[in-house]
Amino acid sequence: MGCTAERVAEALRAVARVVAEHREELVRLDREIGDGDHGENLNRGFTALVSKLDGDVPGTPGAVLKSAATTLISVVGGAAGPLYGTAFLRAATSVGDAAELDAGAVAGALRAALEGVVARGKAAVGDKTMVDALTPAVAAASSVAATGGDVAGVLAAAAEAAEQGAESTVPLVARKGRASYLGERSAGHLDPGARSTALLLRTLAGSAR
Ligand code: ADP
Ligand code: MG
Ligand code: MG
Repeated sequence: MGCTAERVAEALRAVARVVAEHREELVRLDREIGDGDHGENLNRGFTALVSKLDGDVPGTPGAVLKSAATTLISVVGGAAGPLYGTAFLRAATSVGDAAELDAGAVAGALRAALEGVVARGKAAVGDKTMVDALTPAVAAASSVAATGGDVAGVLAAAAEAAEQGAESTVPLVARKGRASYLGERSAGHLDPGARSTALLLRTLAGSAR
């Protein structure tokens, strides 16, 4: 079975739980190289999304992703709100009005999400942002989809690569976002947005099993 609207909604509820569990960790990471609100921002956004899904789950995966996008854009704020919002919006557009998503659709949605983040934030790999987690995730997802993997396999590969990509931000000097104001002092810290991206993908992978 492919990934239905209900399953996408269930996965996003799981993301909301994980973001809540990791709220303080994300706040602490953002306190080290930013303004300390990343966990708070995301928790507010995903809590609002769960409330919206409690009211009504839209009929297609794309419509669920679009609903997530508009909620995150209006509720999260900061740098991450528009970036995650754009990611979900591009993912929604990429899957169109399909009733179920297969592995190729999921990999394509992740690629569209990355393209949206890059179009909006202009960060490249190595700038110490969520792009450092999402870029290797997309490459891994595409290669698993291209070699006949299923949705769970695509997301597991994406999560693994995102976790490594997030870790790779530790030694980097930030060149985008608030952390860039610290210059060299941003080195030696994990980027909060890269961490949240890895958490999100790990949770989606868990939901798809
Ligand atoms: P703010 O910095 O406005 O307080 P958040 O704390 O919610 O916003 O999010 C910070 C995260 O956003 C960073 O850790 C980084 O991963 C991500 N980020 C910031 N600027 C950019 C950008 N231009 N492109 C991609 N990601 C970015
Ligand atoms: Mg912040
Ligand atoms: Mg802020």
